[in-house]
Amino acid sequence: MRPGHRLASLRDQLREHGLDAVVVTHPSNRFWLSGYSGEDIPPNESAGHLVIAHDVAYLVTSRLNAEQARLEAPGFTVYDRERDFARADAVLLRELGARRIGFEDHAILYRDYRALQQELGDGVELVALETLIDDLRAVKSPDEIELIARAQALTDEAFMQVVPTIRPGQTEREIAWHLEQALRELGAEGLAFPIAVASGPNSALPHYRPTDRQVQHSEPIVIDMGATVSGYCADLTRTIWIGEAGEQLERVFNVVLAALEAAEVGIRAGMTGKEADALAREVIAAAGFGEAFTHSLGHGVGVRVHEAPSLSPRSERPLQVGNVVTIEPGIYIPGWGGVRIEDLAVVEEVGARIVTTVPKRIPVAV
Ligand code: ZN
Ligand code: ZN
Repeated sequence: MRPGHRLASLRDQLREHGLDAVVVTHPSNRFWLSGYSGEDIPPNESAGHLVIAHDVAYLVTSRLNAEQARLEAPGFTVYDRERDFARADAVLLRELGARRIGFEDHAILYRDYRALQQELGDGVELVALETLIDDLRAVKSPDEIELIARAQALTDEAFMQVVPTIRPGQTEREIAWHLEQALRELGAEGLAFPIAVASGPNSALPHYRPTDRQVQHSEPIVIDMGATVSGYCADLTRTIWIGEAGEQLERVFNVVLAALEAAEVGIRAGMTGKEADALAREVIAAAGFGEAFTHSLGHGVGVRVHEAPSLSPRSERPLQVGNVVTIEPGIYIPGWGGVRIEDLAVVEEVGARIVTTVPKRIPVAV
């Protein structure tokens, strides 16, 4: 779906929900709808808002970003204001005569919400959009799937270049840097998230930043990384070891691999996020590690590395054809370490198509 089609499908939703206009403040939704790539400085410096009604679309931004906005978002009228985008939004919304206006309740500053309320007055109703735009974003077009696949191919290649060169005594940070260099040299635009290299006991922490710890042979080393290409993310995790795996590592690895495979053959459109999660969780629980699988099975990937849908025990929503999701079971044992294996998949009519090409076991010589 190109930006024009995306606006059309948003407008269909506006009609369905009886809304006259929406104010878009979430940076990923702003990019997805407009093509404008200006970056926010979180938590409170926005690079712009969108005001979208049935037949007009405005991009409210600062003078600094106005030229970039005009180039990147040709479907939008750029309205430049030094600051205080919410008051500018209100001016436009008043001109449009909008009465029922959607806003992004999970991504708006309280300050901006108050400004909209005050400027628009009592006759106007502000309606929380909840996940309306995120849900549109969750179903990818062929163009989007192509960009994600390119980001993943580049990630896979960087991983395969660097991993065989890992040696005992290298630090986690050093390895992360080599991976980042390889990504950049292969043409990545950026990183989907900071690269994680977690070795030995550190690998028991699912979200981890690399340290100066030196990697040793026979211990788990969990590597989680992803490139971005044209604003779209990749996501890859493998657990490797140098030399031989010990008995515990071999056992845990095989359970995680069996869980991954069960999910990969079982996932299909129409099944809920909870049912997808259960495919892997049951395998891990049956092996006695149920308590050690501390996160959900996977998440959507697109212009953000974590987006809808969620493959989790709490998600009752059905998977749809065109969802791009990770499948990433893990087992984490405090004090010892952890194993996670993560593939990226496209949900298709007949099942999940795995995009990731990196083998599950990558031998690394001592
Ligand atoms: Zn990951
Ligand atoms: Zn992930």
